[in-house]
Amino acid sequence: MPDSADAALARYAFQRKIEEIAAARGRATELISLYVSPGKQISDVMAYLRNEYAQSSNIKSRTTRKNVMWAIDSLMNRVRGFKEPPSNGVAFFVGSKAVGADKSEPVTFIVEPPEPLNTYLYRCDSTFFLDPLLAMVHEPDLWGLMVMDRAEVTLGFLRGKRVDPMRNRQSLVPSKHGRGGQSAHRFERMIEHAAHEFFVKCGEMANELFLPKKDVLKGILLGGPGATKEYFFKEGYLHYELQQKVVQPLFDVGYTDEHGLKELVGKATETLHGLELTEEKRIIQKLLTEIRRAELGLAAYGERDVREALAAGAVDTLLVSDGLRRRDVTLRCPACGKTTERSAPDDAVEGLAGGRCPHCGVAGLAIERSADLVEELYAKAAASGASVRMISTESEEGEMLLKAFGGLAAILRYPIGRRLQPAARPETPGGPWSASPI
Ligand SMILES: [Zn+2]
Repeated sequence: MPDSADAALARYAFQRKIEEIAAARGRATELISLYVSPGKQISDVMAYLRNEYAQSSNIKSRTTRKNVMWAIDSLMNRVRGFKEPPSNGVAFFVGSKAVGADKSEPVTFIVEPPEPLNTYLYRCDSTFFLDPLLAMVHEPDLWGLMVMDRAEVTLGFLRGKRVDPMRNRQSLVPSKHGRGGQSAHRFERMIEHAAHEFFVKCGEMANELFLPKKDVLKGILLGGPGATKEYFFKEGYLHYELQQKVVQPLFDVGYTDEHGLKELVGKATETLHGLELTEEKRIIQKLLTEIRRAELGLAAYGERDVREALAAGAVDTLLVSDGLRRRDVTLRCPACGKTTERSAPDDAVEGLAGGRCPHCGVAGLAIERSADLVEELYAKAAASGASVRMISTESEEGEMLLKAFGGLAAILRYPIGRRLQPAARPETPGGPWSASPI
């Protein structure tokens, strides 16, 4: 399922922010990272900072001392602004980052993480310390896990790469090979009845654990030794909405306890990665089919058409390549005062400054505003209720989205008028948004 645009945007913005913070370098040990976990008393944090401030007056280098004391002072002002830490805690990054040969400029970042911080930490270093946040960059996929046979069932979740066992139950079903003699038939019926009861219980446990999460569960992995899992699945002991989420084929694993859950995940890894890629391929194939329609196709591609479709509120699913790194730039002409919009790769933005004005021809355009393109498009998608899907460049189809369509395409809710497009169009998604020199 594609993310809602809001969730996707929040995650993307968080990721880019972390990239930006990670890029800062201090000329010395003068970048301060402070992580405040949710339960922390602000007064304790302030006391700690006052002490650090006093200590830092001992720093030998005059410049470093000045920078560190400025950073702690600035940090105290920021921290004081909080009565208590936000529900997920908060991280501060303050310091003087190196710009050019021997200059530095003050930077301050305040990040409220998408997941609770379990770290209270103060660090002064030549880079900002980001490990606790990096772990949150990718919202982990959530999968349901279930291993079972007639004797035992264990259920859990797979969050990203972490296996969380949640429930375990042993059955009282006697072994099939327990008895012989004339009561064998009756005994057989009895154990089949006991097994049925156990499977009903297993189904109830799965429903109780997985149903409340059905909208975020990517799928359910079902495994176990022998044929019991197939029987359990085929006989419909699971709620039908969960039944549809069970990944096929079922997995053969040797254990039905916590070890079984880990074994299950090990066996499924390749399948899961394949499923993700298959889903991406499927959606790009759908896009291509729509593009190939002579008219009234439900597709838009390239930056200009996607922008138009978004503006018209016609986008159902926005497809963005995870390899896309562009910025939306507004340039102002110092001579005539008119502005020009461009989009350019991240590393080409600076190069736009000083260019020639398309309105009056005078050189010397100044960058007035520069914003992340994907973030802007996500915001537009969110505003029109479109969903967003990041497409990896791992598959041939994903690669095509990036290279042939400029990393942007959309599946539309309804067809919008299509201009006649020259055949070379997909290779040069140009128009007014082109990154070519002005
Ligand atoms: Zn001008």
